[in-house]
Amino acid sequence: MRSATVSLILALVSIGSDVRAQDTLPPGTSVRDPKIETILTEVSEPRIRSRIEKLAAFDTRHTLSDTKSDTRGIGAARRWIKSEFDRIAIKSNGRLKVEFDGYVQPPARRVKVETEIVNVVATLPGSKRQAAERIYVVGGHYDSICSDNEDAVTDAPGANDDASGTAVVLELAEIMSAREFDATIVFVAFAGEEQGLYGSTHFADEAKKAGKRIEAMITNDIVGNTDGSGGRHDNRTLRVFSEGLPDPRTAPLAARLRAVGGENDSPSRQLARFVKETTALYTPRFLAKPIFRSDRYLRGGDHMPFLARNMPAIRFTEPSEQFARQHQDVREENGIAFGDVPGKVDFAYVASVARVNAATMATLALAPASPVGATIETRKVENDTTLHWDPVNEADLAGYEVVWRETTAPFWDHVLWVGNLTRATMTELSKDDHHLGVRSVDREGHRSPASFALPPIRSEPKK
Ligand SMILES: [Zn+2]
Repeated sequence: MRSATVSLILALVSIGSDVRAQDTLPPGTSVRDPKIETILTEVSEPRIRSRIEKLAAFDTRHTLSDTKSDTRGIGAARRWIKSEFDRIAIKSNGRLKVEFDGYVQPPARRVKVETEIVNVVATLPGSKRQAAERIYVVGGHYDSICSDNEDAVTDAPGANDDASGTAVVLELAEIMSAREFDATIVFVAFAGEEQGLYGSTHFADEAKKAGKRIEAMITNDIVGNTDGSGGRHDNRTLRVFSEGLPDPRTAPLAARLRAVGGENDSPSRQLARFVKETTALYTPRFLAKPIFRSDRYLRGGDHMPFLARNMPAIRFTEPSEQFARQHQDVREENGIAFGDVPGKVDFAYVASVARVNAATMATLALAPASPVGATIETRKVENDTTLHWDPVNEADLAGYEVVWRETTAPFWDHVLWVGNLTRATMTELSKDDHHLGVRSVDREGHRSPASFALPPIRSEPKK
């Protein structure tokens, strides 16, 4: 095992603010990738707008609505979404694989009759053999509801909830499919969200059964409104919801995190930190604001079935919601306009959200895998900290960075480039007082999300 001892003088460098840190990094690190910058310039607000208007024009996309009409109901909507993906697939030289992913849901809560639940899925396979096994999923849900969740007939334009998220997914497919990424990206328009996360549950379940390696999932849900119910206007913030501790009933990792005060360090939380850093790098005037909980009160989303199956997953939502414009019949009452109509969507804001998604997905899919087996050595009591991890076996790997922060700090605020080693010692950096992690860096400077370092599974606490 190759290893290094690093004195704390060298190690005490802050992310992005210390020249010495830059000197030790491989070329290109901390610098925006021009390929990703070009992708961001291609995000089209008019295209996003026309797709949101088109989706709203199906009148209702209720999961139990008409499937035969070509102009109204969820059947017409999903055939149109597929036709958009199909058109994009031609531009990708056939690399983008488009399919309906459906099943028949027997009568259940909020689904009173047997109903076909159909996701629309487009997969862009990774171009590098090893990396292509890693899968990054970005989704939004295309179904909608009016005031009565079980009313499949009344108009439910669902422009913000969630044609906005669906339009983001189509836009990503549009601008990313013309290019190659090391890892695999899957674009999904989910169905049945409003009836109980049926489409995403089916998708996550099938992925789990097939042993697919979903390294990250992002749901874009309600990403189009910038005027909150309380009158607050904000078009520069996106909330990033992430769980801190996985469900201990399904994730053995939860007990290990809890044992070392790692309640703030699930893989989903690392993903949220990664989104914040990536957004700051590529669109610094726009804020990806982490919220340290899995979702808003009384609400849920398509990331949850992934979390329940131990796959890192987070939710993107606008900063300040307008509740008169979600899940409401289109009407006017006492001078107040209700209903989720396209006229109230801020299309420029949706384009900004698409850029956050594009920078995130592109970096994830170009960067090497996060290191596996990040371990804090605990052979004796000492004030030095030694970490080791398994080598990442990817061709363009340049090396690794150790990151750390005080136990009370929310974000990684120290970083050290250690080179292509799998073991590093930080002298006089106490693991008792810090959280630490490791991330991979490729030769072009793309970084993976951090892997949180934990003591070995069988380490016995010293008295
Ligand atoms: Zn929604």
